[in-house]
Amino acid sequence: MATSRTVACPQCGAAVEWTEGSQWRPFCSERCKLIDFGGWASESYRIAVPEESDAEAATPPADRARERS
Ligand SMILES: [Zn+2]
Repeated sequence: MATSRTVACPQCGAAVEWTEGSQWRPFCSERCKLIDFGGWASESYRIAVPEESDAEAATPPADRARERS
């Protein structure tokens, strides 16, 4: 006997039917799944590419040039 079960979408909280047909479970839609994936992707991107240290490295040469002139 098949009982339909619903879970709350982790992204928007909408009720999602937990069935074989719900391909985006536990999310309610592809959009909510992508939003959640995007959040994880930007977190790891921030760790992998430190933009601040890159800006710091570019600053000293400019300061030195200003002192000389
Ligand atoms: Zn959702």
